[in-house]
Amino acid sequence: MAARQDILDWCDDTLQVTNFSDYAPNGLQVEGCSKVERIVTSVTASFAAIEYAATQQADMLLVHHGMFWRSEPVTITGWKKQRIATLLQHQINMVGYHLPLDAHPKLGNNAQLAKRMGWIVEKQTGEQNLLNIGCLSETQSLTVVAAMLAHELEREPIVVGNNSKEIRKLAWCTGGAQNFFQQAIDEGVDAYITGEISEAQYHLANETGVAFISAGHHATERYGVQALGEAIKSRFGVELYCFDEQNPA
Ligand SMILES: [Zn+2]
Repeated sequence: MAARQDILDWCDDTLQVTNFSDYAPNGLQVEGCSKVERIVTSVTASFAAIEYAATQQADMLLVHHGMFWRSEPVTITGWKKQRIATLLQHQINMVGYHLPLDAHPKLGNNAQLAKRMGWIVEKQTGEQNLLNIGCLSETQSLTVVAAMLAHELEREPIVVGNNSKEIRKLAWCTGGAQNFFQQAIDEGVDAYITGEISEAQYHLANETGVAFISAGHHATERYGVQALGEAIKSRFGVELYCFDEQNPA
C-alpha cells in the first residue's frame, strides 16, 4: 500500500514532467482513493480499460493516453460521462503520462520499442526530444525489418519503400508521429518507423528513397506504460496488472 501522492511525485520527478509542453494534463486526471495497492496499466483510458480496472478492484489506472485533450469538448457527456462516472464510482485514480512517457530514455515508449527490437539508440533529437536516431546491430533488408516489427508487435505494418533496400540507420518515434518524417529524412536515415501514416508520407518515401514504416499507434506504444508500471511496482511494492486490447490503429 502506497500513498497516491508519493507515487505521483515519484512519476512526475522520474519523467521530468515540467520539462514538457503537452496536449493533455500529465499526472492525476481523475481523483480516486488516497491509498494505492493495485495498479492497472493500459495504453488508453478507454471504457474497456476502466471496466477492467474496476473488475480488478484497482486503485489506479495508469495510462499513456488519458482524457481532456486540448481539442476535446469540455462537457462531461456521452462516452466521457460513462468513463468518468465509472472511475468515480469505483474510486479509481486515473493517471496519464503522455509526451514525458514517450521521451523518457529508459521507461519511454521510444526506448522500450528500441529495446524490444534490438535497435541501438544513438541520440534523441527534435521537438521535445521525441525523435530517436539509431541503427540496427547489422544491416537488414526492409522486408526483414518489417517482418521483425510484425513479429514483435503482432501487427502487420504498412511499408512504403523498396523491399530489398538495405537498412542500417533508423529514426523512430512511437504513436502518431508521421509529421517527423521530414526531419528523419534530414538526419540521413535509411528508414523511419512510427505508428501512423498519412497520405503525404507515401509520396515523400517514394521521392526520397527513405523507407517509411507505419507499425501501429497502439502497437508501438504498448510498452512504455508497462515499463512505468513495473518501475512503480518495484519502487512502491504495489500489485500490477497490464490491460491490453486489440486496437488495429
Ligand atoms: Zn500516442
